[in-house]
Amino acid sequence: GIVVRGLKKRFGATQVLDDVSFEIARGEMVALLGPSGGGKSTVLRIIAGLEFADEGEVHLRGRVATHTRVQDRDIGFVFQGYALFRHMTVRENVAFGLSIRKRPKAEVQRVVDEFLALVQLDGLGDRYPTELSGGQRQRVALARALAPGTDLLLLDEPFGALDAKVRLDLREWLRRLHQERGLTGVFVTHDQEEAMDLASRVIVMNRGRVEQIGTPEEIYDRPATEFVASFVGSIN
Ligand code: ATP
Ligand code: MG
Repeated sequence: GIVVRGLKKRFGATQVLDDVSFEIARGEMVALLGPSGGGKSTVLRIIAGLEFADEGEVHLRGRVATHTRVQDRDIGFVFQGYALFRHMTVRENVAFGLSIRKRPKAEVQRVVDEFLALVQLDGLGDRYPTELSGGQRQRVALARALAPGTDLLLLDEPFGALDAKVRLDLREWLRRLHQERGLTGVFVTHDQEEAMDLASRVIVMNRGRVEQIGTPEEIYDRPATEFVASFVGSIN
């Protein structure tokens, strides 16, 4: 699973994270909700190792990972603005994480095929990202994140900027993947229905603090703070 404890992070004069703690059990799918600027992406970037906290700890799979490098954390992620490599084909994009792990060529090919089939993009492996639709690109990004075989997945608004139909398809796909592979996942979304539908628990963040952690029902029926009540109410 994933444990963060007492995370603090400051950018200049702004306290972006102020004592953030939560635990995500192995196999759990958790949604991170909250207003823009609340610190959601910063938490995920710290868990991924793309950024370091000023204080606090990160534990992954039961081990302290606070100071380890991103490439040693074995986490799949799809982040805002973390685009596909434009000069690489779909196939090369998906192979990327496998290749840097120096897997044998034949094995790389096999795994790439497996994941392209999984995201239903078989046949499109030789295309370049510019030749794909937005939804297809998102699925390539997900395949690239998952292909190295990680069991931890961080998704920062992975379905952002997609139309409703594609979002629903991807949601179903993620649900199936979670069930079949037992992934531990955290995903940020602004779509409350998506959060309630996919997540076993929801973390609500505001101004760098955790306002509430609970099942979707708890968040809805028993909001712990005034903020959660109005936030959940307002986008309902
Ligand atoms: P959104 O929903 O808009 O994506 P968020 O909850 O993901 O918001 P963060 O991206 O974590 O929010 O940002 C939290 C705060 O930290 C914001 O006020 C942001 O301006 C600030 N911030 C984030 N990264 C940096 C940085 N590299 N330098 C300075 N400030 C930053
Ligand atoms: Mg963000």
